[in-house]
Amino acid sequence: MKELPLSKLESYLKEYYGQANEQSLFMKLIEEVGEVAEVLNIRAGRKAGSNETDENLANELVDVIHYAVAIAAINDIDLVNSIIEKDKKASIKYNHKINLEDYLKD
Ligand SMILES: [Mg+2]
Repeated sequence: MKELPLSKLESYLKEYYGQANEQSLFMKLIEEVGEVAEVLNIRAGRKAGSNETDENLANELVDVIHYAVAIAAINDIDLVNSIIEKDKKASIKYNHKINLEDYLKD
């Protein structure tokens, strides 16, 4: 399995989008969230259609991740650190047995 460090994806998207408008990236993100919803609706039988495969779902989830990470990248947000810190707070709030930072040490 290939590994993709999140920080590398961020720097790649920062180079690609440079000084792009975060508002337009956010609109693309919401559009892609809608595409995930469409695939899930088809899979659940709530909507007619044929793009219900795991590959379709994966593609739409990748689009969501792409635009979410792009918004972070153009704002120089350190997503790795943000994810770890947010998980740490959530693990305390919701009484988790382990947090992500400790999990990564194992
Ligand atoms: Mg899409």
